[in-house]
Amino acid sequence: MGRVLFPRLLRRAHLVRHLWGPPSLCHLPYAEGKKTVCGVCGLVHRTFYDRKTRRIRDLPCADKRIYLGVEMRRVACRRCGKVKQERLDWLADYPFCTKRFAFYVGRRCRDSSIHDVAKEFHLDWRTVKALEMQYMRKMLRRAGIPGPKVIGIDEISVRKGHDYRIVVSDLLRKRPIWFGGKDRSEASMDLFYQGLGPKKRKGIQLAVMDMWKPFRNSARKNAPQAAILFDKFHVMRNLGEALDEIRKREYARLTGKKREYIKGQKYTLLSRRENLTMKGRAALKKLLKANKRLNTAYLLKESFSQLWEYKNEGWARRFFDNWRAALKWQRLKPYEEFAQMIESHWEGIAAFTQWEEKVSLGFVEGLNNKIRVIQRRAYGLRDEEYLKLKVLTCMLPPL
Ligand SMILES: [Zn+2]
Repeated sequence: MGRVLFPRLLRRAHLVRHLWGPPSLCHLPYAEGKKTVCGVCGLVHRTFYDRKTRRIRDLPCADKRIYLGVEMRRVACRRCGKVKQERLDWLADYPFCTKRFAFYVGRRCRDSSIHDVAKEFHLDWRTVKALEMQYMRKMLRRAGIPGPKVIGIDEISVRKGHDYRIVVSDLLRKRPIWFGGKDRSEASMDLFYQGLGPKKRKGIQLAVMDMWKPFRNSARKNAPQAAILFDKFHVMRNLGEALDEIRKREYARLTGKKREYIKGQKYTLLSRRENLTMKGRAALKKLLKANKRLNTAYLLKESFSQLWEYKNEGWARRFFDNWRAALKWQRLKPYEEFAQMIESHWEGIAAFTQWEEKVSLGFVEGLNNKIRVIQRRAYGLRDEEYLKLKVLTCMLPPL
């Protein structure tokens, strides 16, 4: 049935290509006299206990699945005091497949869902998941733990927005480096700094974050030398929340047709105009025409993003003062509160003029979007370890 393609490819294995019919195997006699290594403790033995032929999955050839018939030994290990499977460097940890096959599956999982990959390779989805996790752990081991100079802090919501996890990225290397915590508390944030150790903590020059007190307190305490920057992405998100608050209040205040225009338009109002469909744009136009207060709030939000176009803090400040003055008599309470928050965090917001050219501040937003795609794809896999690995490896080069 089968035909031997590259008999010397692996020392003890035959590569079998089955062109027709079910998978078939060929076997080579065992290389006699070769030493056997205990798979658990690594102790080298001259003898072995027994041997058995196993079917090992290898890289496919075109659309054909390839299996290797491999004679594997067991050793009666002196150190372990038990009979153990031997260690083979080219074998994946789990289940019976070669390392290169495991990495191949892992690479495919980077931009496809587990279920799609499982279908393609005729594997169980749990097997694919185990292989992908193995692949991702290897990626992380290779990348090591860097000492970041500029960090970006963001939180992601898990389980429908009731639980939070913190994600810290290295903004110079442009990759996430930490995923953890149990919520958005100061204690959770401290875990990151503790894991970093005192020496690397001292190397942090800038921390980019949300205007969220626990994060700032933790940074002040653990890395007092670091400057703090509240970035555009997070500030604009706060303003978006204020706009939504106005929408809710208008909805509660109004009746009849005017109320109908507001209903269910949260997404339309909060997303960028260029991201909307034709229908969404039409709905937005109708909504803004019908409600003067929302229209004002919408335009004020759009104009606020200009703040980050100024190269000089003085000009940015003048812009903000004008923006704040425009709120007068508009009865936009959530916006007044937002302006107050900007005022009290001004130093950290204006810091962008000093850092903008040295650091890619857009990375936090890009990563945030990417994590949402990962979460959507892994939806239904209630496995936090998997999500963590996925997030930490999403910017690493493939193996
Ligand atoms: Zn052993």
